[in-house]
Amino acid sequence: PHPTPEAPTTDPFALAKALSGVHLIGGRYVPARSGKTFSVVNPATGQEVARAADGDAADVDAAVEDAARAQKEWARMPARKRGALVAQCAALMRTHVEELGRLIALETGKALRTESRVEANTVADILEFFGGLGGELKGETVPFAPDVLSVTVREPLGVVGAIIPWNVPMLLMALKVAPALVAGNTVVVKSAEEAPLAVLRICELMNRVLPAGVFNMVSGFGPECGAPLVAHSKVRKVTFTGSVETGKIVSKAAAEKLIPVTLELGGKSPMIVFADCDFEKTLAGAITSMRFTRQGQSCTAASRIYVERPIFQRFVDAMAEKVDAMVMGDPLDEKTDIGTIISEGQFEKVKSFIDEGVATKGANGRACSAMPSDPALKKGLFIQPYIFTGLDKDSRLVREEIFGPVTCVMPFDDPEAVLAEANDSEYGLAASLWTNNLKVGLNLAHRLEAGLVQINQNLVVQANLSYGGVKSSGLGKEASLEAMLEHFTHKKTIMVNMG
Ligand code: NAD
Repeated sequence: PHPTPEAPTTDPFALAKALSGVHLIGGRYVPARSGKTFSVVNPATGQEVARAADGDAADVDAAVEDAARAQKEWARMPARKRGALVAQCAALMRTHVEELGRLIALETGKALRTESRVEANTVADILEFFGGLGGELKGETVPFAPDVLSVTVREPLGVVGAIIPWNVPMLLMALKVAPALVAGNTVVVKSAEEAPLAVLRICELMNRVLPAGVFNMVSGFGPECGAPLVAHSKVRKVTFTGSVETGKIVSKAAAEKLIPVTLELGGKSPMIVFADCDFEKTLAGAITSMRFTRQGQSCTAASRIYVERPIFQRFVDAMAEKVDAMVMGDPLDEKTDIGTIISEGQFEKVKSFIDEGVATKGANGRACSAMPSDPALKKGLFIQPYIFTGLDKDSRLVREEIFGPVTCVMPFDDPEAVLAEANDSEYGLAASLWTNNLKVGLNLAHRLEAGLVQINQNLVVQANLSYGGVKSSGLGKEASLEAMLEHFTHKKTIMVNMG
């Protein structure tokens, strides 16, 4: 028993308090075995809004054991019934969109209107899509010999360990949990230490529909809580979203146990703008692609923008003007376009990139959008978005993932040269091309080293479209039926001799 409200609430402060101090294991709220908690802070004010259960190996073990116990029954349930339950969870999310949007805005500093409410709706979309796929867990009949019937069947892997970051935690969790559950696995999620609340509420809502133990959640820090989840002998698959650095650690630990791992990691995504593009549409695309509304805290952010020389200066000026007109302020205020950076650590990191850019000879950094004037926000982690020009291609700002509201805009003259520059990166998550010459666009789209290339648009992840990076940006795919089959089931072969 725990005093979280039964009905949706629009008071995120009260809800944050109510969600304090617990994991969700075996269908019940439980405190950390150690009794420890850690602080969850509203990045817009610096004030503590909740204390989260500080999980360690003992909590992880309890969660995995419960998930393992629940898995046998769950896997025996007809797949379409499992899907129907996940779809029922989607309906519950729809009635909680406002609540979840406000809660995630409070704990992450993402503006409610431009980001947080959108994320809450997307969670429902994802659950809805995968909820409909129960009937698609099909195998094959393979001709082999006249008297032998050979078939393949899709079986779940067992307990899945899911580790998520803080930037879009609800959406990224849904992309992992929904397909894993429909495929017959049970799940233990380790939430991000910066944003443990909204995902915990989602877990509670889904536990109203799902059998106990099927979906469990622990909160805590990476080495203390994430690492034991990856290492647990009963976890048979790990799905991870986060930085390249942590992805490598997780991948090595999974290799020790010889279990499969899916990795969605960082990016430094190029946006290539040709002079013949639709100028206004492309401009709007640059603003959304760079995800200024999320303070650039997006893995697919267009953090390198290459613009063909004839329109270069006009494009940069127009972009700065657009960002200038955006309102930075209280994430819960409907007027706000841009919220805050997530944490002091990220704040310092982003600042150091900006300082380096400003100090670079020949570079020009334009700070856009006014800082909020409300005194209640004076301790908030707000940073003015920066648009840099004049940076060398080897600058750290052009090569490294900043994960902040900083983009570098560079001129180009030749499509082949810009393609080479775009591909000269350790990352390969996303890219976009803006041109009315589809021949050029398609030609480059085929040769860009990225998991996702878009021409004349920049949409976010769609539940039914395969998503995932190449090179250091990741391993394996998320979203789509194919991702569910490939990454959350194994194909068993059964042969019957009928002779
Ligand atoms: P992070 O790697 O620091 O943390 C991610 C998660 O891993 C957190 O839950 C953390 O507690 C956990 N973790 C840390 N050390 C661990 C360990 N030793 N073992 C197991 N778990 C551990 O990343 P972050 O700062 O939270 O997120 C930002 C990064 O995520 C960026 O690089 C961004 O590009 C990436 N990202 C990628 C995608 C994508 O789809 N490719 C989406 C969103 C974010």
